[in-house]
Amino acid sequence: MIYILFLIGLVVGSFLEALTYRLPRGENVLRGRSKCPKCKKTIRWHDNIPLISFALLSGKCRDCGEKISTRCPLIEISTAVIFVFIWQFYTGRLPLPLVFVVSSLMIAIFVIDLEHRIIPDSLTFLGLGVVLILFLVTDIPLLYIYLASGAGAALFLLLLNLVTQGRGMGLGDVKLALFSGLVLGYPVVILWILIAFIAGALVGIILITMGRAKLKQKIAFGPFLVFSFLISLVFGEYISFLLFPYL
Ligand SMILES: [Zn+2]
Repeated sequence: MIYILFLIGLVVGSFLEALTYRLPRGENVLRGRSKCPKCKKTIRWHDNIPLISFALLSGKCRDCGEKISTRCPLIEISTAVIFVFIWQFYTGRLPLPLVFVVSSLMIAIFVIDLEHRIIPDSLTFLGLGVVLILFLVTDIPLLYIYLASGAGAALFLLLLNLVTQGRGMGLGDVKLALFSGLVLGYPVVILWILIAFIAGALVGIILITMGRAKLKQKIAFGPFLVFSFLISLVFGEYISFLLFPYL
């Protein structure tokens, strides 16, 4: 089963790769085959198989020899690994298919925010819609806790957004918090915010000491929120049990 799931992860990752490339550029996400960004030739179906084609073509376009960006295999492998981890370790109350859909959306948000510093509303709202519909049609125990976690997390980030006058936290992050809190529930939502801030601070310090970023420079916070979300989603129940055994 793990191997099948890994393969599904590769295929989903391949779709996410195209999605994260097209969505910020305003291209149609669902229709149209992938093209080489340099010579614009449509990529043949047998050259579009996740990982395998990249390896066979040694990372180059068959037509013009242009290097294919390593973001393709990176996104594919990451998605597959995350899928396997979810399958192995997820112990939360949400149904697994939903967890896979939510994680895929989060991976897309990670890539787009990292590359373009925006979190597309379309992805956040799609996630919110899917989760809310599922909550309506199924009997998730303690539903109000999930709703309160989403609202609480969003309020907290909104407060930071107002205090820092939008310099630290964008409104995209606030909407993402509503979505994340709704999925994670309590007390994992606290862990999520903790890990995001610790990871953000650590990477910020590393970038500044390496001279790659200045103290006042804006670093997108979304990727840290997503990184922390995936850790919290997969291991949250274990970690929060260790950290806050009385919650
Ligand atoms: Zn080409």
